[in-house]
Amino acid sequence: MNEWFIIKETQGKGRGAFATKKIPKGTSIIQYKGKLISKSVAEKLEQKHKSKGELWIFTLNEEYDIDASRQGNEARFINHSCEPNCEAVNYDDEEIWIEAVKDIEPGEELTYNYGFEEPDEYFPCFCGSKNCKGWIVKEDYEFKPGEKEELERLHQELLEEPNLQNKTHFKHSKKVKKNKH
Ligand SMILES: [Zn+2]
Repeated sequence: MNEWFIIKETQGKGRGAFATKKIPKGTSIIQYKGKLISKSVAEKLEQKHKSKGELWIFTLNEEYDIDASRQGNEARFINHSCEPNCEAVNYDDEEIWIEAVKDIEPGEELTYNYGFEEPDEYFPCFCGSKNCKGWIVKEDYEFKPGEKEELERLHQELLEEPNLQNKTHFKHSKKVKKNKH
């Protein structure tokens, strides 16, 4: 266990991470750990897990991704949100850390934006925030004409299939780059 949060079941999003104490803005909460895998292995895993869920891959650098389903820690249970209170920071293409971007109150769910380039996985977002984009996409993603309507229809269909909400198939992109000090 770590000093900042616990893992609990959420409503409709599988497991999530909830603060156990006040977390000041700027805190490095946890390192996103997992087995280093090559891009070709990552690609194979994605295909294999596409229909089954439970896959956690984070882009680390040009050569490697991090597979948190092996040698991973609780960082993999932190959910996506369109209005997150954390961000994923890539240090020198070597380590990913989840850091607080605002003060977080005890009991609040920890979230960050997974930063998908395109919603090609059609993975719906259940973050529930006011400005929810409906899909797990990066903050400034622009929907193409008609795309949003199409995705909304799909989202509605998925909502009616409760099992899908618990599936986890996420490929995270790197978000913010910083240098180790
Ligand atoms: Zn959302």
